Amino acid sequence: MKDVVNLSKLALPEPLNLIGGEWVPARSGGEMDVVSPIDGEVFARIADSDAADVDAAVQAARAAFEGGAWSELTAAERGRLMIRLSERILEHAEDLAQLETRDNGKPIAQARADMKVTARYFEYYGGAADKVHGEVIPFQKGYNVEVHREPHGVTGHIIPWNYPAQMFGRSVAPAIAMGNAAVLKPAEDACLTALAIGRMATDLGFPPGAINIVTGRGARAGQALADHPGIDFISFTGSPEVGQMIQQAAARNFIGCTLELGGKSPQIVFEDADLDAALPVLVNAVIQNGGQTCSAGTRVLVQRGIFDAVGARLAERFGEVEAEASDHDGATLGPLISAKQKKRVETYIAEADAPLMARGRIGEGAPDGGFYVAPAVFGPCDPKARIAQEEVFGPVVCMIPFEDEAEAIAIANGTEYGLVAAVWTRDGGRQQRVAKAMRCGQVFINGYGAGGGVELPFGGIRKSGHGREKGFAALLEFSTIKTIVNNHG
Ligand code: NAP
Ligand code: MG
Repeated sequence: MKDVVNLSKLALPEPLNLIGGEWVPARSGGEMDVVSPIDGEVFARIADSDAADVDAAVQAARAAFEGGAWSELTAAERGRLMIRLSERILEHAEDLAQLETRDNGKPIAQARADMKVTARYFEYYGGAADKVHGEVIPFQKGYNVEVHREPHGVTGHIIPWNYPAQMFGRSVAPAIAMGNAAVLKPAEDACLTALAIGRMATDLGFPPGAINIVTGRGARAGQALADHPGIDFISFTGSPEVGQMIQQAAARNFIGCTLELGGKSPQIVFEDADLDAALPVLVNAVIQNGGQTCSAGTRVLVQRGIFDAVGARLAERFGEVEAEASDHDGATLGPLISAKQKKRVETYIAEADAPLMARGRIGEGAPDGGFYVAPAVFGPCDPKARIAQEEVFGPVVCMIPFEDEAEAIAIANGTEYGLVAAVWTRDGGRQQRVAKAMRCGQVFINGYGAGGGVELPFGGIRKSGHGREKGFAALLEFSTIKTIVNNHG
């Protein structure tokens, strides 16, 4: 086991869960290794939790919500604590970023950006905690009708490994802002920054049970959380397969859920687009985080008259990209998260049912044990090709030609997913028409924003899931309405 993380101020998280304000080992004593994708080496350990740990965490959250110190705080006090946590995250941003890169493999520049976004979630939702108001509804004479927004109670949060710290902020911050008590099951492949931020929260005096963190395997700890009859709402980000099981478990418990399940997001480039502005964005929307981003812009639809020219430029740029160790400045593409994910992506590339236009490289210095994949551009792709339909979750992009606006819209909407889309054109009317025609949750015009955008409601339709995170919309998801009808005569 080697300690390569610069932990000047931050201790490497221990194999402990956060339950009711205490840091405790798994009840069974189970632990598991944490591997760094950069070199495949074990560098830390986490608790390998089961249903008993999840049950204890849910009970602790219940106690916090019903009569515990957490329930005693005013909305303003909750918000103030969250803003202090935001500041603490920023104070330790460099150490957290180093830890994130070691744990997840993402380029250090990306990890640094992630920490700013994570802090911003706690700042944004901390600031909003006391600004969600109810309503008074005009009703029959002699009545006063009030609509109150109330927390659900105990909220479950299951998050993936692609943006561990950001996902913690995105999912948990709006929930606790509304006064819920949260139980988080982060992903076994990368959860150390969530534990480190949890440690900051306990140090800052968050009341016991407000935030609980239970680490371990999805099929055991995650399933136990989804199935637990003591949770009142569940928020899930991950694969459609597991998302479907989460929704079934939620149905059995008669509770609501939000699902954020990824996508196959289109970027539509018309002949009149500003290509110099578009090209770097098109590349980054796939390379960012090794393509392991739910909103990665992995289908590039290009109008036929400029298809060859755009294809050549995109191929040239991708061909220059090198996958390399990501813990130094300047790295743009690091390893993928795990050997399993590398195999999945390489299988998609090897079996792709479209011509390969360009392939990047694995850098010579990339450690042998790491999970590196050279990026790939495919095209011209049939829009119905498997490689153009399924989420690969790696540095793989499909180029698809189209004739006109109608065909572009049909192709863009022609997958089972619907998360994000972009339209690149200088024609104002077309910008509006295409944006309105997109069947998805977020549309960019002459830009693209994978990640970040804390203020902007985000989420999908169909196989991309349902419910909205980010922005004020998330506060509404993490609360319910009570209507009080008073017949005052
Ligand atoms: P996944 O299995 O859906 O994992 C997401 C989260 O769910 C993790 O915390 C995982 O825990 C947990 N989980 C797994 N099985 C569970 C179960 N039976 N009950 C409750 N929770 C469970 O996704 P993955 O295997 O990491 O990745 C597979 C594919 O999913 C990727 O290639 C990608 O296409 C997609 N994906 C999408 C997103 C997104 O942002 N939308 C994120 C990640 C992956 P453990 O990881 O600890 O097992
Ligand atoms: Mg790891």
